[in-house]
Amino acid sequence: MPELPEVEGVVRQIRPVAIGKKIEDVFVSDTIRLSKTGGKEAVLKKVEADSFIDRLKGSQIVSVERRSKYIYFGLRKDGEFLLVNHLGMSGAWFYVGSLMAIPEDKFRKHVHVVLTLSDGNLLAYSDIRRFGEMRVLNEEGDYPPLLLMAPEPFDENALQHFLDMSESTKYRNKPIKEVIMDGQVISGAGNIYATEALFRMKIHPNRAAHRISRKRRAELFQAIVDILLESIEAGGSTISDYRNINGESGGMQNRFAMYGKKQCMTCGSVTKTLKIGGRTSVFCPTCQK
Ligand SMILES: [Zn+2]
Repeated sequence: MPELPEVEGVVRQIRPVAIGKKIEDVFVSDTIRLSKTGGKEAVLKKVEADSFIDRLKGSQIVSVERRSKYIYFGLRKDGEFLLVNHLGMSGAWFYVGSLMAIPEDKFRKHVHVVLTLSDGNLLAYSDIRRFGEMRVLNEEGDYPPLLLMAPEPFDENALQHFLDMSESTKYRNKPIKEVIMDGQVISGAGNIYATEALFRMKIHPNRAAHRISRKRRAELFQAIVDILLESIEAGGSTISDYRNINGESGGMQNRFAMYGKKQCMTCGSVTKTLKIGGRTSVFCPTCQK
């Protein structure tokens, strides 16, 4: 599943090719249309395919921003509005001259939304498992969960927010791993980066938040920020279906010290796993206390 660094990578690549361009045409796949008539809402949320097309067609892309793991396309046509996209498990954007130019068959076969830009190129959204989301919003608050997201981890107020939240009655008795993976506490630190940060800090993932001193929690927060930045630098990590808009994989997975490891690189112990907050947590029983 793409986490913050992967989404940041996609946004940085889409921005220069999309900003200032007009969306001349919009395509929505039959699979998405059929899921609507079947009562399911694959990818397009709370909007019919035809109204989605009407709304986007003829608009200009004025901004492309990342907020947590969401991509916000700022669009202008009569007023300004937003296309908000979450990549889900396997969403990927491709900037190509034609759909045939999408590098891998598995992505080419699952293109569900295509924006034809005024430069003649396509921004094609492929989603193999269709857990991604697209919403058309007049403003962020039209989808209230967006307003509950923690500050961006690189914002000045993010550390204070994390410290306050991890001391609150809602979170203080929960395992620290569950706390840092909660998007209302820290934005964008999913299973991969939480696992890596806890290993780097030698903190057991199941330790209750209140049993870690404020100073150590502040250091843990910094470790998460460092790892997110390192991963952005490495082009994100590719666990299964993440690709950047040119179809390339990231390189961060080669730098993991704990995620997906059977043996601790530091002490050689066999790693253990625990289910925490519904996710499998890998940790070293010797190094992490
Ligand atoms: Zn170890």
